[in-house]
Amino acid sequence: MNDKQLQDFVSYLIKNRHNVFSHTDDDGEISIKKISSGKDFVLCPKRPLYSFKKFFLPPCQKMMEFSGDTTTLNRSPNVKIVLLGLHFYDLKALTLINQVYNKDPHFQKKLRNAIVIGQSPVPAELEDYQKFEKEVLEHLKFDIFLEAKSHDKQKSFRIFTGSEDGQRLLDGFGYRDYENIEYVGPVPKKGLGPINSMLIEKVKKSCGSKIWKELSKKCTDCGKCTIVCPTCFCFKIKDEIKKDEIVRSREWDSCFYEEFSEIAGGHKFLDSTEKRIYNYYDHKFVRIPEEYEMPGCVSCGRCTEVCPAGIDLRENLKRILEEN
Ligand code: SF4
Ligand code: SF4
Repeated sequence: MNDKQLQDFVSYLIKNRHNVFSHTDDDGEISIKKISSGKDFVLCPKRPLYSFKKFFLPPCQKMMEFSGDTTTLNRSPNVKIVLLGLHFYDLKALTLINQVYNKDPHFQKKLRNAIVIGQSPVPAELEDYQKFEKEVLEHLKFDIFLEAKSHDKQKSFRIFTGSEDGQRLLDGFGYRDYENIEYVGPVPKKGLGPINSMLIEKVKKSCGSKIWKELSKKCTDCGKCTIVCPTCFCFKIKDEIKKDEIVRSREWDSCFYEEFSEIAGGHKFLDSTEKRIYNYYDHKFVRIPEEYEMPGCVSCGRCTEVCPAGIDLRENLKRILEEN
């Protein structure tokens, strides 16, 4: 598919689905916005600071209402959306969250109503990335994937489909030069691989070591890293008492907030910054991999970019590997 065809395809999606969200580039600031023309779509070499997480797990979501003896589950309307241009990390994050929220009807409904279109990095960056061949794509959740062909003067793309919805859309547009990839589940045959397996042991061993005390002196517990992280999925339950009813919602939470681990009676399991920052790494590099056989971090770098204290996840992992 060439550039012009891609633009026409995006216009076709807008005409048929109406709600198309894509990266937009406002003087170098990449954000995700609803677009109204194929021309508004930009392929971004850089991922946006905020991921597509909010489309599947909104920051605040009404779950149910209680009134007298009646409980009413919130049935949000079926709004069909197209999410265009998810980077590789965000597809990996979506695949992980789909495992975690496998039985959650709210998440699953949003996933069913979304057409997810992923993109490989544009050619200028391509050598830094692995090839998006079948063995990578078959473990990712997506409907359509655009692989930028390297070394092309004119932009062109190899097109993959990952679902019948994706195929139907391309067929409807009249484009059939695509390769279908069947989703075979999130975990590759090789499992976690040597580095992630080593990290499980090393992070466990680092519990109580000086790195966490040092980091706790810098960390301000602001929680920004958890907000931008595409794999952070923790929430709190909020009950709002109205005149005749109680509305129950779930809201994003952060394990860096003091009250996150508080239980009845006021006990807090994570009662210091040192424990909280270790918990963040333990969850991503020990508990999630052990439970789901997938890394809990997709290496997007957002947490490092946003941290006001200059805490660098990569540097810390390097140190943990060297010192333990
Ligand atoms: S690099 Fe940071 S923000 Fe990105 S997935 Fe890993 S922990 Fe989350
Ligand atoms: S963004 Fe940085 S300072 Fe804020 S909670 Fe995360 S690690 Fe701590």
